Amino acid sequence: MDRHPKHEVFMICQGRLFNPLMITLVLVLSACGNGRPGWGKFPVTIYSDATITTYPQAQSDLQDAMNFWEQQSGQKIFDYRGTYNGTPYTGDVQHPSSIVANTIFFQSPWPLASAVVGQTIVNSTSSNQIQSAMVMINGNAAFCWGDCIGQYNQTSARKTFTHELGHFIGLAHTQDNTDIMYPQITPGGSLTTVRVDSAALRELTLQ
Ligand SMILES: [Zn+2]
Repeated sequence: MDRHPKHEVFMICQGRLFNPLMITLVLVLSACGNGRPGWGKFPVTIYSDATITTYPQAQSDLQDAMNFWEQQSGQKIFDYRGTYNGTPYTGDVQHPSSIVANTIFFQSPWPLASAVVGQTIVNSTSSNQIQSAMVMINGNAAFCWGDCIGQYNQTSARKTFTHELGHFIGLAHTQDNTDIMYPQITPGGSLTTVRVDSAALRELTLQ
């Protein structure tokens, strides 16, 4: 698995798709560095792009992903404001010079390898305070929606959103393969059996 050095300002996590069994596509995401920056204060304003807000299944999966973290943490984390009109960053999408609005958006053309399905960029201060974050989703990847029943050759958008929002909150990867922050996304889109590192989440969301 690739390891990406933690940038001084941006913490970059990216996922890769591969097919080890020729049956199941899984998502592999790199380690995100050693720091554990957090927002400190919730709820955090977040937007999505029009691709998500105008596609009911994408909107539903994003809502499920946000609900998942709010249920797990027992508090309101996201102040979701719908479509962000405009470009939510300045500069290059991979290395933005600033994040204008915390946004999750489908990116096409995709600037990374086609096997990469998502990347979360977290902008934090040296004192581990998250200032802004954005989640880019591969607009060309083959996603399935909702529970993804029987769609074993596609990647769950709901789980991808949930995993990336975990990074958005500040969570790093875990070694527990039942955990949503495990670097590989398992088949199917149900979130009912996935787990989280409650201690790490509590540390990040404690007010
Ligand atoms: Zn990840």
